[in-house]
Amino acid sequence: MRLAIVKKDLCKPRRCNKECVRFCPINRSGAKCVEIIEDKARISEPLCLGCGICVKKCPFRAITIVNLPDEYERRAVHRYGPNAFKLYGLPIPQRGRVIGIIGPNGTGKSTALKILGGRIRPNLGRIDEEISWSEILRFFRGSELQNYFDQLASGRIRAVYKPQEVSKIPQILKGRVGEILSKIDERGLLREISKELNLNPIWNRRLTQLSGGELQKFAIAAVLIRDVDVYLIDEPSSFLDIRERLKLAGLIRRLATKDKYTVVVEHDLVVLDYISDSVHIVYGEPGAYGIFSLPRGVRVGVNAYLRGYLREENILIRDEPIRFKLNPVPIEWRPEDLLVSWSSMIKVLGDFKLYIEPGEIHRGEVIGILGPNGIGKTTFVKLLAGIIKPDKGYVNIQGELKVSYKPQFLAEMELEGTLYEHLKYNVGVNPEDSHIKSNFLRPLGLLELLERDLNTLSGGELQRVAIASCLLRDADVYLIDEPMAYLDVEYRLIVAKLIRRITEERKAATFVVEHDIIAQDFVSDSIMVFLGTPGVSGHAYSPEGLHKGMNRFLSDLEVTFRRDRDTGRPRVNKPGSWLDRYQKEVLKEYYYMAPLEEPEH
Ligand code: ADP
Ligand code: ADP
Ligand code: MG
Ligand code: MG
Repeated sequence: MRLAIVKKDLCKPRRCNKECVRFCPINRSGAKCVEIIEDKARISEPLCLGCGICVKKCPFRAITIVNLPDEYERRAVHRYGPNAFKLYGLPIPQRGRVIGIIGPNGTGKSTALKILGGRIRPNLGRIDEEISWSEILRFFRGSELQNYFDQLASGRIRAVYKPQEVSKIPQILKGRVGEILSKIDERGLLREISKELNLNPIWNRRLTQLSGGELQKFAIAAVLIRDVDVYLIDEPSSFLDIRERLKLAGLIRRLATKDKYTVVVEHDLVVLDYISDSVHIVYGEPGAYGIFSLPRGVRVGVNAYLRGYLREENILIRDEPIRFKLNPVPIEWRPEDLLVSWSSMIKVLGDFKLYIEPGEIHRGEVIGILGPNGIGKTTFVKLLAGIIKPDKGYVNIQGELKVSYKPQFLAEMELEGTLYEHLKYNVGVNPEDSHIKSNFLRPLGLLELLERDLNTLSGGELQRVAIASCLLRDADVYLIDEPMAYLDVEYRLIVAKLIRRITEERKAATFVVEHDIIAQDFVSDSIMVFLGTPGVSGHAYSPEGLHKGMNRFLSDLEVTFRRDRDTGRPRVNKPGSWLDRYQKEVLKEYYYMAPLEEPEH
């Protein structure tokens, strides 16, 4: 089976020589394999030989040809149109269980949720036909999905969907937070949920005045208070801090009672692991096709994902497994490695006051910064970068130090011209250089974006551009503010590895502000904890070892983590569970470094 994909937004036949049409060997023999229809290239899949000439000739990289085993066709669930994305398989909702979905962006996770929510009727890959519900039910015969769609089609169950892109909500919904939520409180849960998610401070605000994290909490509340049968929740933890992520995870778990279906797409593996009973891994080629794997238990599923190999399907999703360091020996920094130190500092911004304990960083050190939103993390990073000055205290830089900064808000970047021009003129590197291509552009998926205008890139693409721009600059200190926002799990792992490698190779020191605990655990040697009252006052502790810093941070949250015995990844203990109490009361360890569980035989 051959899939020919034409990315509509990239194909611009008026701006190229239509070489895809001219050079196609099938076309030359008189048939019509590639044509221009409605101003886009249209490729006939039955005629296509998979020679790949059109793929190479297209200057905009709009064409992808993939070969898939024929037996996949039997699982085709939906295709958006001719030469468009194709989805194989679906996650299987189950009453009383939370089903988690992990996978790269562009492989059909949101599409699957929209199908389960009844917003898209699946066409089983047959784009020219109207498929009846009875045929769809026949297609899913023998699986739970048959029963599910039967109930959905006949209106016996209803679904709500929390969209992935919360920033679009104010365009379709007008009003104030409290007003809107009070009108849809069908389960009488609003009071409890708004307390958990701390909605009080924004109760009277208009949606247009909310930050990303505030909109996210509003959207989650608006879905959870509805009295329906199916809850479809797309990327709930984006823009939230760790406390909010854990609260949200707890809420979703508690509300997934035995009569409800819940399906969650999530890239933060700690959150996904904590929320889900079982997981589906999605793989494929972003933008071209996606395949839902069979469900796995959550522990086994997340581990398989990290290992990068799906045994039952015999699919390799990554060349190398992701491993976590256990019991790292705290690093003894040598005096000659000292790079920057700071005295105790105070910075006042409007009503907000930040106190910073003295500290120092060393060549080769990655310091993770942890703390809630609105506590002064970005302010601290800006003080170090010299963008703002402290009211009291000073930053002591040894000699001339070059600082490279990735801002949290990508709107702070200049977005003119193509990525190629940006790299060449703003960053000052040669995008053709083979070292730069193989170490930065290829792993970050930027090679195929070189000719794109920066202002046409998606959030995730722009984030990768921002990270590359920061790390490509030769610097002594890298300040990386919330790099994982908008990124899927796969890129989070790639970015974490790249940050480590650059820091070590260049003997630089790197600060990473990030709410994803797995990413922090993977990347950081040391941790700097910020505590206090968001928006009012913040206290920044001196950097300390990973273990000590995590303990300080988590004991404030009253959350304990254990280690998975196979992969070493951190996992949240259920509050009040035996391990949770044992770690708090006996071990006094909120962040356990070595696996505690007995191996399974
Ligand atoms: P994910 O949620 O895994 O990131 P999506 O389900 O949003 O992926 O999208 C999968 C693919 O389908 C993407 O390549 C996207 O561009 C494409 N797609 C999404 N919606 C449509 C649509 N309405 N028409 C055509 N293609 C679409
Ligand atoms: P974080 O990065 O931890 O989320 P920030 O450092 O961005 O927090 O902000 C900390 C607090 O300072 C917030 O309450 C923010 O509203 C406030 N703040 C930030 N910049 C300014 C400013 N220029 N004027 C007034 N208040 C500010
Ligand atoms: Mg999505
Ligand atoms: Mg910030």
